[in-house]
Amino acid sequence: MAETNVTDPLEFNADELRAKYRSERDKRLRADGNDQYVETAGDFSHYRDDPYVEPGFTRAPLTDDTDVVIIGGGFGGLLAGARLRDAGVENIRIVEKGGDFGGTWYWNRYPGAACDIESYVYLPLLEETGYMPSKKYATGPEILAYSQQIARHYNLYDNACLQTEIQRLHWDDAASRWVIETSRNDRMTARYVILSNGPLNRPKLPGIPGVETFKGHTFHTSRWDYDYTGGDSSGGLTGLKGKRIGIIGTGATAVQCVSHLAEHAEELFVFQRTPSSIDVRNDRPTDEDWAKSLKPGWHKERLENFNTLVSGGYADKDLVNDGWTEIIRNLLFFAKQDSNGDLTPAKIAELAELADFKKMEQIRGRVDDVIADAATAEALKPWYRQFCKRPCFHDDYLAAFNRENVTLVDTAGQGVERITENAVIANGQAYELDCLVYGTGFEVGTDYTRRAGYDLEGREGVTLSSSWSQGMRTLHGMHVRGFPNAFIMGPAQAGFTANYPHLLDEQARHLAYLLTQAKDRQMARIEVTEEAEQGWVDTILSKATLRQKFFEECTPGYYNNEGKANERAIQNSPYGGGSDEYFRILADWRNEGGLAGLQLSNS
Ligand code: NDP
Repeated sequence: MAETNVTDPLEFNADELRAKYRSERDKRLRADGNDQYVETAGDFSHYRDDPYVEPGFTRAPLTDDTDVVIIGGGFGGLLAGARLRDAGVENIRIVEKGGDFGGTWYWNRYPGAACDIESYVYLPLLEETGYMPSKKYATGPEILAYSQQIARHYNLYDNACLQTEIQRLHWDDAASRWVIETSRNDRMTARYVILSNGPLNRPKLPGIPGVETFKGHTFHTSRWDYDYTGGDSSGGLTGLKGKRIGIIGTGATAVQCVSHLAEHAEELFVFQRTPSSIDVRNDRPTDEDWAKSLKPGWHKERLENFNTLVSGGYADKDLVNDGWTEIIRNLLFFAKQDSNGDLTPAKIAELAELADFKKMEQIRGRVDDVIADAATAEALKPWYRQFCKRPCFHDDYLAAFNRENVTLVDTAGQGVERITENAVIANGQAYELDCLVYGTGFEVGTDYTRRAGYDLEGREGVTLSSSWSQGMRTLHGMHVRGFPNAFIMGPAQAGFTANYPHLLDEQARHLAYLLTQAKDRQMARIEVTEEAEQGWVDTILSKATLRQKFFEECTPGYYNNEGKANERAIQNSPYGGGSDEYFRILADWRNEGGLAGLQLSNS
């Protein structure tokens, strides 16, 4: 790293911070990586049960044929449905395991659930549906209701199969159809399948010794048990009166629900392994005059501007102007101070690190400002770069630790030691609990087919899991050789952005283009060539270096495969050039018009 003489006027020592970040990361690195977690399967599968539907739903099995079956009714499935409808595709079916549309917002109804990316860029299709969110950061119930509004707007309830899980998908080569078997005994067929299972759809538990022995009440945050806690997403957890509650995890979910638990529990114990960075949220109602002043095209302009800035790119204005884009404002400030103005990529990387140090110093300073007890404040300070983990934005989380009934049980990076029939043991001390909430997140680094909950059998009976045993192989993250007419939506080998629906919309538009092209050319089958697939895998690997370098220095978490950067994990990463560049690659590919790398045939 080059000398950082620009640090002189700053109130931190960059070398000391670098060393501190490294030692905090090293404390947390562990050999078992993703294997430290327990899958919510077998004896733990009840942690995935749907608490939001009435039991006893039945319907007759389906054996019909559909043009397009979309798996997943979250924003990915909704966007694919919307863009395909716009392209004139009529015969669409969405299959969804939940009882309604909404995806992550269907499942995650914990108290305080809300979007912490500005809703004017996070919510898709705002101009198409004519919807304006009520606040800068919309709440979970509003987003869930909006998801359902999108489904109605595009007639996606017609033909949908809710409360239905895919069990088997196989390609019938003679018929050129996917055969789809489900938990409702369906055996339907489809010309095209679109897989939009969601990257964070499968809750995971920590593999803490004794996790299976706890006899008190327990649930995962993504299946909140309001029968036990009382209240709803807006709080009011009156069922917790007189109860000793524990929550394991201090990620973005816990940060949103802890203040509600704190308000109602007799005692709350928050078990922390790594603190999150908590910036100001500063929510506010939508200004009606501003909303009326928006010109057609505003939404696309705003979300592209946000994406450019959070991907480290340059734009001459910052439309969203919140905690997500502040680093870039810092960077521009430093760039202006820099005397020779020669902004090489290396120089930008150096300034970005300084901007990050400045931002994180401010976040650590905020902890000191809010927290009364010095030791608690120290334990709540995050020591890593802001985008090593999901940045959090909340105005009540930190203050909850000033309450008499709340104890932060910091484990100095080591995690909880053991769980017994009635307690969680950390730092050698037992904390007896009535209820233990797991805010321990979702599987990310495990195999795609395990997270999806089904495998695909493509041409010649080859399974997707075996095709990808050495790592994912795709074109653009969407097409896989041997799996004609199947398309994947998601970040792997595609463009990661914190504003995830933006990626989904780009992929949905791309899909609409592909299916329109196939129709116009009177072709019924689309499959990637081996060369194009290999070419994209090579691109992913060659572009991985910068991204890898950043994440190697990070404290472990799902962003960096729990600190284990093996070759397979690198191959399964998003495109290293960033989402803006990935979106441009897709657009250029479409503009070129030759469907490069795809084989189309009419059988
Ligand atoms: P995370 O994976 O972010 O957090 C899991 C937490 O569990 C971490 O704090 C982790 O600690 C902790 N943990 C795991 N094992 C142990 C252990 N053995 N002992 C103690 N602690 C342990 O899950 P979340 O559900 O919080 O968030 C998942 C994602 O969902 C977010 O990153 C974000 O993308 C999304 N989200 C988005 C929101 C929005 O506003 N749009 C709101 C909420 C979530 P450690 O960090 O040390 O691994």
